[in-house]
Amino acid sequence: MSTDFSFAHLSDIHMRPEGMLYNTMDGYERASRVVDAALTVETPLAFMLITGDNIDEIEPAASYARLKQLLARVKIPTAFALGNHDVRREFRIAFEHELGSFLAIPGISDYPCHGKTFVGTKRILVLDTLVPKFTHGYLDDGQLQWLATELDQHHDGPTILALHHCPLPIPTRRFAKYQLTNADALERVVLNSRVKPIAMLFGHIHYSHIGLFGGIPCVSAPGIAMGIAPDALQGLRMTDAAGFNLCHVIDGRFVVNPVITQAESRTVKYDMEMSWQ
Ligand SMILES: [Zn+2]
Repeated sequence: MSTDFSFAHLSDIHMRPEGMLYNTMDGYERASRVVDAALTVETPLAFMLITGDNIDEIEPAASYARLKQLLARVKIPTAFALGNHDVRREFRIAFEHELGSFLAIPGISDYPCHGKTFVGTKRILVLDTLVPKFTHGYLDDGQLQWLATELDQHHDGPTILALHHCPLPIPTRRFAKYQLTNADALERVVLNSRVKPIAMLFGHIHYSHIGLFGGIPCVSAPGIAMGIAPDALQGLRMTDAAGFNLCHVIDGRFVVNPVITQAESRTVKYDMEMSWQ
């Protein structure tokens, strides 16, 4: 029996409340286009993975409600990571029903929203790298220990690891300090684990970025609310690019096809200051 499967990896929707644009662009309309493109691929999808910045932290309850409205068309299992623009408590309230037994620390609280879910024999482990009020990412000891325990248990089937912040080095120098600041600690957990994830998927940087991390493929999805140009040296060059990754496991190997639904055609904003926390 074939164990091949495919799934869609989306990231950085940055949903805002109704009537509020994102850099002059209608985020709902852009996200609809990407979600529809993912849902109409000919390849059957086992699940959808969305790696954070699901909202843009403005009026979180209204933004999550709008995100749910957008995702109502998705009839396959969906797993979420949280990004620096998400709000844990409101996410837990909005998705309480959908989260089921996913959360490692259940209930309505400000605790990290890491957890695991199964789609058949496929196991998806999600980390929460959000540091409230800051742009960079960090994994506390509790989550690193949780991951080490999960990866120490035998599992019949592939394991996929997801998080928001980038654990790889990036070319956009001034953006680098806003990535996962303790990626070395995460890499030690992966290197020392008995079960190796088949892939590690992330977002946050809004461009396609691929490398090895702890010996496993580590891949970002393009952004949805906006793109970021990987060649910008002076700051952050935001574009109107958008897309998602069509991911496959074929004969036990992980492969990715980036699907660009909106090619980069114009610079929306060039942020030279980078004065975030
Ligand atoms: Zn983002």
